[in-house]
Amino acid sequence: MKILIINAGSSSLKFQLLDSNKKFKALYKGIVDGIGLKTCFIDAMAKSKPLKYKKIVKNHEQAVKEALKIIGDEKIDAIGHRVVHGGEKYHDATKITAQVKKTIKKLSELAPLHNPPNLEGINACKKLLKGIPNIAIFDTAFHQTIPEKAFHYAIPEKYYKKYKVRKYGFHGTSHKYISDETYKLLRSKNKKIITCHLGNGSSLSAVKNGKCIETSMGFTPLDGVPMGTRSGSIDPAIVFYLMEKEKINSDKIDHILNNESGILGVSGFSSDVREIWAKAKKKNKKALITIDLLAYKIALHIGAYAAALNGVDAITFTAGIGQNAWYLRRDICKYLNFLGVKLDPKKNRKNEKIIHEKKSKVKIFVIKTNEGLQIAREVSKIVK
Ligand code: ADP
Repeated sequence: MKILIINAGSSSLKFQLLDSNKKFKALYKGIVDGIGLKTCFIDAMAKSKPLKYKKIVKNHEQAVKEALKIIGDEKIDAIGHRVVHGGEKYHDATKITAQVKKTIKKLSELAPLHNPPNLEGINACKKLLKGIPNIAIFDTAFHQTIPEKAFHYAIPEKYYKKYKVRKYGFHGTSHKYISDETYKLLRSKNKKIITCHLGNGSSLSAVKNGKCIETSMGFTPLDGVPMGTRSGSIDPAIVFYLMEKEKINSDKIDHILNNESGILGVSGFSSDVREIWAKAKKKNKKALITIDLLAYKIALHIGAYAAALNGVDAITFTAGIGQNAWYLRRDICKYLNFLGVKLDPKKNRKNEKIIHEKKSKVKIFVIKTNEGLQIAREVSKIVK
């Protein structure tokens, strides 16, 4: 079965065509970047051949047309769409009907930047690829198993009832993929694991016997550990204090916490860990404190999750930072010796898959995430 994966963002559309009969090999892969802007860059791999060009692409329908041009006359059996917010309604991959589209639209209230473009991608595929099943894979679905005590905030319950204010969690597709791969390495699903997706956006999940029981992103992706430009958890009173002191409105404070904080805010010069590390090696003070703070806050979350799980068998790192920043993994693991974590420095330095010492009580893994593959796996289960 050939499955088209669509990830439609506000100004970009990523696509992949995977073949389930060839171990989900990606036959075509690309990005249409700059939708609605003056110039749009199309960067793709078509059967291992690179393809790059510029063009004006006005909307998501035209972007899907570009993707289909690249894919040519290859038969498409099903389409999997990444949809950011599935609210409390969707726990699994779901065939997209008119009703499902309505719900995704309604959930735009909770994800105003993501669900609308996701829906545009769905509409474009429905129009251009008639009769092919469209499946939604929700970023929130994997976290729907977290218990009430974990998803409720300690605020008046009426806000949950009225507006569904609760923890949802995101990056679910990546956490599901990474936890499944971790269970394969452990050769058992009867284990307690912590998955750390550390990329531009970062989140951690506690997974018990295959089910997510806790995650660090919350009502929105702003919560949890510090990220590229997002603050992660802070005292909520800081919001009112800064609004008052700086005479700023909610849009501005939203911008500060989402776009000017995190690694960029602490370092003052970059949101990219590679640039922070380059300066940390030269003993730049701001860079050193940024690395220190990141490692510390991530370790705090891991400690909390070890408590939530009442033990931990494995910790897995993934995404741009998790897979590459060996110095951060080293610093994070220093805080975790009390749990029985023993990192093998050489294996860690080389970004190997298994980076713990043989006698380590807790296994430490580095696994490349693959959300496209996870989406394709879930689509193929629904569309037989
Ligand atoms: P996204 O969350 O957008 O998918 P990635 O998972 O690709 O992003 O992560 C991007 C981030 O990962 C970059 O901003 C950078 O901080 C970090 N990163 C990427 N490559 C490296 C590397 N070789 N060493 C350290 N950090 C890296």
